[in-house]
Amino acid sequence: MKAGFVNIFGKPNAGKSTLLNSLMGEKLAIVSPKVQTTRHRIKTILTGDNYQVIFSDTPGIIEPKYKLHEKMMQAVKSSLEDADVAIFLFDVTDSLADADQIFSSLGVRVPVILVINKTDIASKEKVTTANTFFSAKDYVNGVVEISASKGAGVSDLLKKIIELLPEGEAFYSDENLSDLPTKFFVGEIIREKIFYLYQEEIPYHATVLVQEFKEKTTLTKIRAEIIVQRETQKGIILGEKGKMIKELGTLARIEIEEFIGRKVFLELFVKVRPKWRDSELYLREYGY
Ligand code: GDP
Ligand code: MG
Repeated sequence: MKAGFVNIFGKPNAGKSTLLNSLMGEKLAIVSPKVQTTRHRIKTILTGDNYQVIFSDTPGIIEPKYKLHEKMMQAVKSSLEDADVAIFLFDVTDSLADADQIFSSLGVRVPVILVINKTDIASKEKVTTANTFFSAKDYVNGVVEISASKGAGVSDLLKKIIELLPEGEAFYSDENLSDLPTKFFVGEIIREKIFYLYQEEIPYHATVLVQEFKEKTTLTKIRAEIIVQRETQKGIILGEKGKMIKELGTLARIEIEEFIGRKVFLELFVKVRPKWRDSELYLREYGY
């Protein structure tokens, strides 16, 4: 059995969502020709007889012009560190030098599959030039040519991913998978609001666990925990007289209601867990 986490990186419009959909065989991410439609990391899980791949799609890699964008860039970097395999997605119609600059600046330590996308709209020479260019780079472990929208090369890519994944048991069992996307989305929405509301490094020390997601007749009841590592961080998340967490709850609730199309009763709790980054604890706490 091979199991692990895979992150897909690439500039806005490189085709990350399209690739994820193609890998999963169904539409889970929102695909749109507009830039930056994927606002949250989306995690989906592909389980086969002898493998389980947990994918995440990230917001596009953005120039760190604004504070928020800088934070997003940080989020991209830290999710890279959490992955077992990284996919760098390159739109074959883009500039090789620009892409190389971004990819190399990420300083990735996990195996990288460089995926050349949109081969259906480029000449064979152009694809070959890109392949030769990236094959020579130190940070690249393998190059795969695909057309995410046509599905070409996608099964080769999956084979290559599985090859690079560590040996191990599946992280998630089948019966827990049905409500996973929604729960993850809800968690990511709350996480995004934490990035928006709090300064500096606070967002990196906080994780969100959606503990309860219950559909009642008139609304959906959601209980989520924000896990931090220290009491001082808990104080900052709460704010004076709970002012900050109240604002966080309101912002998150409005967006969750939009996302699931129902009224939401959202309860947020802050817990101090000095070692939440320990992955086993993290997964156990998730309840999957
Ligand atoms: P993301 O921003 O990286 O998630 O990119 P999307 O998946 O939303 O794709 C951006 C645009 O590129 C959409 O219009 C897709 O239909 C298009 N696209 C993605 N993959 C391919 C491909 O293999 N070939 C072609 N021709 N278009 C693609
Ligand atoms: Mg996208």
